[in-house]
Amino acid sequence: MKPLIYNLGRLELETVCAEHDQPRFRAGQIWRWLYVQRVTEWAAMRNLPASLRRALAESFLLPEPEPLATQGKPDETRKLLIGLRDGECVEAVMIPAADRRTLCLSSQVGCRFHCAFCASGQGGYQRQLEAGEIVQQVMSACMLWGDRPTHIVYMGVGEPFDNYDAVLTSVRTLNNGDGLGIGARRITISTCGVVPGIERLAEESIQVELSVSLHASSDAVRTALMPVNKTWPIDTLLAACRAYAERTGRIITFEYTLIRDVNDSEADAHALARRLANLPCRVNLIPLSDVPEFEGKPSSPAAADLFIRALAEQHINATLRASKGSGLEAACGQLRAKHR
Ligand code: SAH
Repeated sequence: MKPLIYNLGRLELETVCAEHDQPRFRAGQIWRWLYVQRVTEWAAMRNLPASLRRALAESFLLPEPEPLATQGKPDETRKLLIGLRDGECVEAVMIPAADRRTLCLSSQVGCRFHCAFCASGQGGYQRQLEAGEIVQQVMSACMLWGDRPTHIVYMGVGEPFDNYDAVLTSVRTLNNGDGLGIGARRITISTCGVVPGIERLAEESIQVELSVSLHASSDAVRTALMPVNKTWPIDTLLAACRAYAERTGRIITFEYTLIRDVNDSEADAHALARRLANLPCRVNLIPLSDVPEFEGKPSSPAAADLFIRALAEQHINATLRASKGSGLEAACGQLRAKHR
């Protein structure tokens, strides 16, 4: 199977051009055809020598950006199901708002982490996504919108830090100013708490946003919800977050899904505030999306209100995110699960 052309970073594309005895500016031309004009055929790359076009077509696949399926209406939250060349498929979700178009990307086919409330891991784990397959999700969305997304979140199926290199390569491609040019600060990587990934990201010279899915303030509750907590318990995780914030000077967002009578009491809020004291962060409270396999229920609006107020009293900045996709089974992995 030919590799996807989208797998190549900007410098790797220069290497390929050099291997074909082509000057370096050819890589810039190809890059613009791919990410500015967003052509879907080699023949459309008109300013390249025919011999180079042929050589590229023989070595690389330029995938069909047409999704396998879509769900939802234009201008509303929409899901794309993207077919991969081995027959697997992945989901991406577009979330439009007044001033932005956010695209939520998958980083793996399935997930190994099995959070109790998440649909992604329930079909098991199939394989890693290649960098190009992550980029392909964006190219598909570009075609549907006729424009590029303004914001990217790695919050679809999979754990980005369990596929670190491919995710970072895709981030650099999306960010590259000669192509899509999506600002690093508009790209959010979300992790269930894979500490080595947080440590590596702290050393990258890229200003992406980091989101950490916390969901509990005690190890007992977090381990019950998120088995990953056995490997990296809360103290270990938050120590890595503190080091990250110090090293990068950046604020971390903690995701916290309010689940009735599980993690939503005032005492939970106080425990959370103690854990996060003096850590440059904000808390994003997410209403629980209904996942049939999980018996937890969303918190009542009154409980959510009390929770936010308790955090605010302890000077923790928290916002309640409106759920955008519940009518759409937008919880991670649900469209793909259905297709399978
Ligand atoms: N593996 C990464 C990214 C994918 S999940 C991570 O865990 O962060 C993206 C976010 O959606 C995470 O914060 C996750 O905890 C949350 N999530 C998953 N299932 C959910 C559900 N049923 N309701 C609300 N949030 C959910």
